[in-house]
Amino acid sequence: MSTSNNHHKVIILGSGPAGLTAAIYTARASLSPLLIHGPLAGGQLTTTTEVENFPGFPEGVQGPDLMQLMEKQATRFGTTVAVDTIVKANLSQRPFTLEGQSGKYTCDSLIISTGAAPKYIGAKNERELLGYGVSTCATCDGAFFRNKVIAVVGGGDSACEEASFLTRFASKLYLIHRRDSLRASKIMQKRVLENPKIEVLWNKHVVAVEGTKKDGVTGLTLEDTHTKEHSLLPADALFVAIGHTPNSSLFTGQLEMDENGYLRHKTDSAETSIPGVFVSGDVQDHVFRQAITAAGSGCMAAIAAERWLESQHQ
Ligand code: NAP
Repeated sequence: MSTSNNHHKVIILGSGPAGLTAAIYTARASLSPLLIHGPLAGGQLTTTTEVENFPGFPEGVQGPDLMQLMEKQATRFGTTVAVDTIVKANLSQRPFTLEGQSGKYTCDSLIISTGAAPKYIGAKNERELLGYGVSTCATCDGAFFRNKVIAVVGGGDSACEEASFLTRFASKLYLIHRRDSLRASKIMQKRVLENPKIEVLWNKHVVAVEGTKKDGVTGLTLEDTHTKEHSLLPADALFVAIGHTPNSSLFTGQLEMDENGYLRHKTDSAETSIPGVFVSGDVQDHVFRQAITAAGSGCMAAIAAERWLESQHQ
């Protein structure tokens, strides 16, 4: 449709399992996709450690290694990878236009695989002390707290996974949860509850993170959800693991989303409310959010894009 240098039949946004699988499929379909990702390549799996449930790795695989393998597979078949942060998208006419910090791109079809970002609890000083003892990534920051007291907030699989992982560094680990039962899967719960280093603090909210940028985190002010009493928990770090927000704001007002910002797609296809725009991975999935489901949906988006392009005589 367009002849500009930065024009592509398919652009894929995001380099997690969804984006890279879409890249493998569209590249193998000779569509020479351009995959654009921001500064953190590989998506959320690069902030995880051992992945034990991705088929084909009976001994498990490190998240970053898995992503590198997927990228190698995508580039082998002709995917071009560009590092840029897209700040504006215009999907109102074809070709679609994307404006990044480093360039402008156009495409006939777009696959959005931008994933999801961690949520914050809203405690006082939480954002101020991010990087100074507050973290959302155990893999990235856990090693800074060797032999220290670490707290993790949350009650889902993420919190349990992070808590279990962080016990390799922590002298003591507190898992702080706002209810009296965990949301995590039974196997993850068991790991946490049977780990002698982990103490679960039930029915507690973190209302403030104590400390300074100079001294780091020194403790947490907790509130009991029943009695509303406040208490001070001495701790050297807080890892926030309470879920994610879909990275869909670029498309606000252009694509249909649910009330939480997850992109909607047709029930029998990965196509969004705009023909030629497809979606895969965590930005459209608040239910499963697994590497394998993201990869599967990347495959679906790629095949849907390929068929749509064919139907447009591309
Ligand atoms: P999640 O299942 O939504 O759990 C979020 C947890 O954080 C819940 O326990 C929730 O409490 C708590 N929470 C939410 N907002 C809070 C707030 N403002 N203050 C305090 N606590 C708050 O999210 P997730 O753990 O990230 O998991 C998301 C999905 O990914 C799930 O489907 C999960 O199975 C999957 N996952 C799988 C693995 C794995 O298999 N290895 C690892 C990570 C994630 P309530 O329980 O009271 O709502």
